[in-house]
Amino acid sequence: MPYKLFIPGPVAVSDQTLRAMTRPLIGHRGSEFIALYRSLQPGLQALFGTADPVYLSTSSAWGLMEGSLRNVVRRKVLCCMNGAFSDKWLEVARRCGLEAAGLSFEWGRPVDPAALRAELARGGYDAVTLIHNETSCGCQSDLPALAAVLRDFPDVISIVDTVSSFSAVPIAKDALGLDIVLTGSQKALALPPGLSLAAVSPRALARAATSPARGYYFDLVEFQKNHEGGMTPSTPVIPLIYALESKLQDIAAEGIPARFARHRRLNHLVRDWALARGFRLFPQEGFGSVTLNCFANTLGVDLPAVNQRLKQRGFLIDGGYGKLKGTTFRISNMGDETEATLAELLAALDASLG
Ligand SMILES: *Cc1c(COP(=O)(O)O)cnc(C)c1O
Repeated sequence: MPYKLFIPGPVAVSDQTLRAMTRPLIGHRGSEFIALYRSLQPGLQALFGTADPVYLSTSSAWGLMEGSLRNVVRRKVLCCMNGAFSDKWLEVARRCGLEAAGLSFEWGRPVDPAALRAELARGGYDAVTLIHNETSCGCQSDLPALAAVLRDFPDVISIVDTVSSFSAVPIAKDALGLDIVLTGSQKALALPPGLSLAAVSPRALARAATSPARGYYFDLVEFQKNHEGGMTPSTPVIPLIYALESKLQDIAAEGIPARFARHRRLNHLVRDWALARGFRLFPQEGFGSVTLNCFANTLGVDLPAVNQRLKQRGFLIDGGYGKLKGTTFRISNMGDETEATLAELLAALDASLG
């Protein structure tokens, strides 16, 4: 039996989006593609809060997360860590053979701006990685406060993952002075996986141009060169770009502020449901994600069994990521959800909790 995904990525994809993907293919060096590529820029730039170019990468977000490191780290990168994805980013930097250090916080705690300032002040860093919304533990750090620290270190290029917050939460790239802001398709954009996006500052591009081992597939200089012609370096995942075009039309029709407000409302709806049943929010008070909730399994519920029953009712949630498996569970409110669709999920959850 098919079931609807309420895990924090991939999330459910609308029929409208799926239909957009079935349009006949076009050549990626022809005028139709160039017009399509260029038409997407204003909508994407509005969501990133930037006038910088937005590159389209045929990869999941990790491609751009690794590629960004290869492009901008010449000396040493500081990786802010407070969950599974940000922890892994340090490991990825080391696997790329880069000098890297971690600034660690307990999972569920936000990245602390004062600690970031203190570590950067020790010197030696020329890049920082930061995850806006740590999906693994449902913790959203204070991006404006962290960006204010980063602006005091002009030699440090910032690489910011907004994979699970993009298009659901305001991201003011230019106002905050961020260098590389990246995201993926299968989280709040509610597209299938396989496409990722990055808005890149001139400073980051200038650094990339001096990096000898930036490779080819994720070379930002190649992305920029092709961007100027309305294209991507290699053959892009055209059906997902059709889907993105359709999604940007949906977003324009709803209005960006309304989209942000909807995500906030639905997030609270799920949170109130769980708190009323005796669960607790896992992340630190005041730093819970807006696009998902990660709850501590304070009732000791058998999560695999609940999810099994839930599946039979046509839904799936997440039973905890990595070391939090079993002790936490996560419910996404990303994408196209509404009060009505979440009410269906929560009723099925009530019936499945037993
Ligand atoms: C999902 C996710 C990723 C990884 O994305 P992939 O699509 O698996 O490459 C990275 N960062 C965050 C915050 C995520 O939620």
